[in-house]
Amino acid sequence: MTPTTARRRRLVIVTASLLTLAAAVPGCVAQATEDPDSGQKPATRNQGNASEGASAGAPGNTRGNSPGNTPGNAPGNKGKSDNERPGDGSRTPAPPTSGRPTAPPVSPTPPANVSPDISHESESPGTAVNLTIDDGPDPTWTPKVLDLLQKYQAHATFCMIGPQAKAQPDLVKKVVAAGHRLCDHSVDHNTAMDKRPEDYQRQQILDAQKMIEDAAGGTKVRYYRAPGGAFTPYSRQLAASHGMRPLGWNIDTRDWTRPGADRIIATVKSGLREGPTILFHDGGGDRSQTVAALGELLPWLKQQGYAFSYPKA
Ligand SMILES: [Zn+2]
Repeated sequence: MTPTTARRRRLVIVTASLLTLAAAVPGCVAQATEDPDSGQKPATRNQGNASEGASAGAPGNTRGNSPGNTPGNAPGNKGKSDNERPGDGSRTPAPPTSGRPTAPPVSPTPPANVSPDISHESESPGTAVNLTIDDGPDPTWTPKVLDLLQKYQAHATFCMIGPQAKAQPDLVKKVVAAGHRLCDHSVDHNTAMDKRPEDYQRQQILDAQKMIEDAAGGTKVRYYRAPGGAFTPYSRQLAASHGMRPLGWNIDTRDWTRPGADRIIATVKSGLREGPTILFHDGGGDRSQTVAALGELLPWLKQQGYAFSYPKA
């Protein structure tokens, strides 16, 4: 073989390799699609297990958030701790749970086929936010929030503490009558309930569901949000089997820490790219900052073209 022939052969081999590569590239690109789940950015999505952490409790109760304040676990202890939760793996796919549910459902006609996966996205297509408001109902703050929602024709999902709903049935009915949706936020707001036995989780979830639905006059609770995002595969399956979609969030306003209305507003505005579900609180203490922030955010969101939707149930 002459040196020229050898060079030509190498050239042919290199050219053929390049052609093969070029043919392969479009296929690779086509497979690099976005997160099929929701189109949100997985890296920035707050899965609903971060620092919802807020405690509920009696009206006027202020939230303790010192690190040494541990959540109360005993039934009847309203667990005033608001420790942050670094994460609970709530996005882990639920293992198949054969044989569950075994007990008769609380609701006479629970919706079939409710997913046990944590919901973050809106049920509406297009540009929308899901306002979610936790730890009420509260006789002082819930009516103020309702007034604002009505003023701006906005919808929200209220994650209620069972005993508070039982104590405020008229307020629960007012929430329902205004077209908002209900969410079960447990009996005792124990942010460590993921560490407790299944029987305890079951009691916390199903007792609260009954209290809220009774207070509402029979309107179904559509979601379950674990206190502080303390979901477990069991609690998600249980909630789903009783017609309640596990509910997470994308934007944690941390309004319960009372950072100032401006800070709450800024957190929402900067967080909107992370997803549509926003976490506020209407219970557990002085929520005047939350009310002030909503008073500015609701008209701003409308001006920006956002619709007010609900989380996918
Ligand atoms: Zn809460």
